[in-house]
Amino acid sequence: MEPRRIAGRRAVVEVRNHIEDRWCDAESGRTRENRNPGDLADIVSRSADSTAADALAAVTAAQAALPAWRALGPVRRGEIVMRTARLVAERRQEFAETITREHGKLLREALGEVDRTVALLEYTAGEGRRLGGATLPADDPRTMALTRREPIGVVGLVTPWNFPLAIPAWKVAPALVAGCSVVFKPSPLTPLTAALLVECFVAAGAVSGVLNLVHGGAEVGEALVKIPAVAGISFTGSVEVGRAIHTAGAPRFLRTQLEMGGKNAALVLADADLDAAADAIVAGAFGQAGQRCSATSRVVVDRAVHGELVRRLAERAAALRVGDGMEADSQLGPVVSAERLRACLDGVRQAVAEGAVAVTGGERVNEGVPDGYFMAPTVLDGVRPDSYIAQEEIFGPVLSVIECDGLDDGLRIVNSVRYGMAAAVFTRDPAFAFTALDRIDAGMLHVNRPGVGAYPHMPHIGAKESQYGPAECSPQVWDFYTEWRTACISY
Ligand code: NAD
Repeated sequence: MEPRRIAGRRAVVEVRNHIEDRWCDAESGRTRENRNPGDLADIVSRSADSTAADALAAVTAAQAALPAWRALGPVRRGEIVMRTARLVAERRQEFAETITREHGKLLREALGEVDRTVALLEYTAGEGRRLGGATLPADDPRTMALTRREPIGVVGLVTPWNFPLAIPAWKVAPALVAGCSVVFKPSPLTPLTAALLVECFVAAGAVSGVLNLVHGGAEVGEALVKIPAVAGISFTGSVEVGRAIHTAGAPRFLRTQLEMGGKNAALVLADADLDAAADAIVAGAFGQAGQRCSATSRVVVDRAVHGELVRRLAERAAALRVGDGMEADSQLGPVVSAERLRACLDGVRQAVAEGAVAVTGGERVNEGVPDGYFMAPTVLDGVRPDSYIAQEEIFGPVLSVIECDGLDDGLRIVNSVRYGMAAAVFTRDPAFAFTALDRIDAGMLHVNRPGVGAYPHMPHIGAKESQYGPAECSPQVWDFYTEWRTACISY
């Protein structure tokens, strides 16, 4: 049975778990209420608030489904993922509106996420035909040596709220194509988008028990880490939770793939086209209200052009129209929760106490918007590279500007954080650009363009504390969901 819908234009949806082939309530009967962060009067869903018991039931179902699923082979499993891509594309508008209501991002950003998800699913489905190993030379005569990939077994997928469709899709799809069975635990802030995605996979042919959905908070994720039948956890979220998962799983050699936070810099050199740089930086910093792991949150700018760049950034940021993501003329939506808003405001307050100046923004927006978690687009100037706001991810529409003295000093500051997710460089000189690419310690680099993301067939990868384990969204992803076998055959 599908998640039960309650009639009404802005329906409150009862979102249930999906275990084996049933949509069911949490064993405890508890639910959580989710409201639209851009309009708190809008109750989006009531979702199952599960416990370790639900996690265990889901893992048991996933284990039982494994042998038949493995036997199906990657080509047929890929076909199911391809059908899922079509179903998601058919429900494009419904997905986008749900994402906007649950997360707050602009409807056009949500549509972009749906389109990207379809591309990711199509790419991953096709990879099923390439999921092979190698034939190798043998030392002995009349002998063939070969390598093969085998699925690792039951995997737990633990996801955040900021890409509530794309991130689950880029985990579930390769897990299923590889032949793993899945227990998927989405963020408690975005349960409905997760349920719609599972509906599509099930309608496309993901058979009973191969894709289980358990809603809830940390308790469910912690349980998945502890259940011995779970062979691997693919997690996206904060460094702190990633570390907790890795540490808790280490005694039993749990395989982990951890995609974590960022404190991403845009390095602007003295020869850069400042208008183009400002446009790109504003897009990278304030898109999705700054709530992307690759969002630009630091600008490291050469002293020679510092004043000119700050003026351009402040003008552009101040001109952004803050509003409900559903409104066509909104340019900056709310942040996702009261907790996130508080983190942004506290971060700004601390930065100002340490000597930074808010050249625009810095406060909550209450006027001209619905009751929601709206933060003004904020540009902080005079930020010290070692201050909290320059070192820690606060995940909101707040951009810190730090001065540097040329390329070497700029690269030193860019690399002076524990994260290494993404970075952008702005210069007209190819030698500067390639030097920066050689020396910036970050996974995803951009030159003269917004410093966010990459394409579906490229590794989604960070350096330092931003990432652990094989990358997602590329052929490297199979190194998480499969393990190698060798065979030597004499004839
Ligand atoms: P979070 O770490 O708070 O939670 C992520 C998920 O982990 C949620 O499903 C949550 O319920 C679960 N969880 C919480 N505590 C747990 C525990 N002890 N054990 C197991 N699971 C637990 O992150 P969030 O607030 O949902 O998302 C924002 C974070 O995600 C940011 O740090 C952002 O940079 C990061 N992120 C990273 C990427 C990437 O690809 N690297 C992409 C998007 C978001």
